[in-house]
Amino acid sequence: MFNHLLKNAALTVLLSATVAITTAQKVKEPKAWTTEWSKPYQPFRIAGNLYYVGTYDLACYLITTPKGNILINTGLADSEKQIRQNIKALGFKFTDTKILLNTQAHYDHMGAMAAIKKKTGAQLMMNEKDVPVAKDGGSSDYAIGGKEPSYKPVIPDRLLHDGDTIVLGNMQLVMLHHPGHTKGSSSFLFTVQDEQQQYKVFIANMPSIVTDSAFNKISAYPDIAVDYAYTFKALKNISFDIWLSSHASQFDMHDKHKPGDIYNPAVFKDKAGYDAALSELQKKYEEKMKQ
Ligand SMILES: [Zn+2]
Repeated sequence: MFNHLLKNAALTVLLSATVAITTAQKVKEPKAWTTEWSKPYQPFRIAGNLYYVGTYDLACYLITTPKGNILINTGLADSEKQIRQNIKALGFKFTDTKILLNTQAHYDHMGAMAAIKKKTGAQLMMNEKDVPVAKDGGSSDYAIGGKEPSYKPVIPDRLLHDGDTIVLGNMQLVMLHHPGHTKGSSSFLFTVQDEQQQYKVFIANMPSIVTDSAFNKISAYPDIAVDYAYTFKALKNISFDIWLSSHASQFDMHDKHKPGDIYNPAVFKDKAGYDAALSELQKKYEEKMKQ
């Protein structure tokens, strides 16, 4: 009996040591695909109480409410400073961030998540299907995972499921599960209001393909092809006024808005651009299915 207890104690010590090593594992952020990911960008008001606070290409969105603010996506690790400065430049307080959301658990949107969560004390709410990957800092991602975490691991405060509502102050956002790019890729649908009118905003996680492997060879994600097919179908049935995405390049933001432009939500009303982007991605998906 005593021996058994001793063994258990030894095992506990060993286990905690392993946990400590895992937690302390050094983050190795991959080299950015383009310098546009780190390039600063002047923050601006998109529509009503919705603002762009990301880098030149890594889209981060701030939604303000009388009860505090919601931040969607956090860019790379070094985006934190830019996001903080952007929020301040718009006249808001970084520490008023109460809820953190993300469109997908890749390092180019999760890089600064752990740091921002720590500094603001905000609640991180995440699609349940991306949580295992977030917890190991991207290591277990089916396509771009590896031995080292690509961002600081983070544990969410609330798990979200398809159709769940996120409420803060007068705002209600619906999370839509659009898997494929990651298992828990998420889009957000909500209404904002300005002095003139309301806008239904859709922040879509566009279903681009990240893996070089044939879909039927991905044992870590056996449902990948079915998930993409579901997402394409789901995305076609969404109605909205304003379309945004995880990367500025995905919705041609820089063609629609230049730094210093006057407030003009109408430039982001682009159903034709959305349809074209979707059908382009669907073509790539269909090619991939032949692989
Ligand atoms: Zn991604």
